[in-house]
Amino acid sequence: MARDRTRVRRHPERGHYGRAAVEAVLDSGVVAHVAFVDAGQPYCVPMLHARSGDVLYIHGSSASRTIRLLGTGIPACVTVTAIDGLVLARSAFEHSANYRSVMLLGRFARVEAPDDRVAAFQAFTNKLVPGRWEEVRVPNAKELKATAILALVIEEAAVKIRTGPPSDDDSPDAARDTWAGVLPMALQLGDPEPAPGLRDGIPLAPSVRALLRRGELSTSDANAELR
Ligand SMILES: Cc1cc2nc3c(=O)[nH]c(=O)nc-3n(C[C@H](O)[C@H](O)[C@H](O)COP(=O)(O)OP(=O)(O)OC[C@H]3O[C@@H](n4cnc5c(N)ncnc54)[C@H](O)[C@@H]3O)c2cc1C
Repeated sequence: MARDRTRVRRHPERGHYGRAAVEAVLDSGVVAHVAFVDAGQPYCVPMLHARSGDVLYIHGSSASRTIRLLGTGIPACVTVTAIDGLVLARSAFEHSANYRSVMLLGRFARVEAPDDRVAAFQAFTNKLVPGRWEEVRVPNAKELKATAILALVIEEAAVKIRTGPPSDDDSPDAARDTWAGVLPMALQLGDPEPAPGLRDGIPLAPSVRALLRRGELSTSDANAELR
């Protein structure tokens, strides 16, 4: 999926270009940073996202500057990043992070077909909590109208992954008494906080229970293979 401008040049051994790698890192992140240029000024906007097949969806108010501009098909860059650990070396210079990140280049287009728009809503909802769509009221015509949905076909992408310990084990710095190693990091779900207006006797949603049982935010088998 890489073209020249998405080929990883710094640490090329950390670059991956297969569809499975791209989809795994996209699916593992809740927040996408969506970048574009408006009147010569780059902006980078954090947004929710969802993937269905080879399409990445974003959505927002039709009145939003970001949505309005991206919907015209201007060039866009999307990144999703997961941080897996702090890499602590003996020297300040060798400090780093273990991460998985993906960068997509392309252009968004507005999703207009009613069925596709509902499918995108479903993807957004189930991306947050798998199975949630089946538990909630689906969007009505007014809600669908107020929301613009944009789709980017995933064609040009690169994944970059760093894993492992600090890289100064074999350097003269290893003679120092400074602790070195990796401090693993992960996003963690907390205890559910019921809405103040939740009526008595309503149990925790099955989708939320299932997510808590798995103990992890959205991930996939392919993602585990990449680590
Ligand atoms: C985790 C997360 C998820 C989000 N998900 C969505 C989503 O799915 N859909 C959606 O439409 N919006 C989402 N937002 C809000 C989004 O980041 C933008 O604020 C929103 O899209 C409006 O964009 P705009 O260009 O129209 O804003 P404008 O109000 O026109 O932006 C004007 C200026 O306000 C500042 N600004 C705007 N947004 C932010 C921000 N998030 N943080 C700091 N400064 C900002 C910038 O300086 C920007 O140039 C999300 C935000 C976060 C943090």
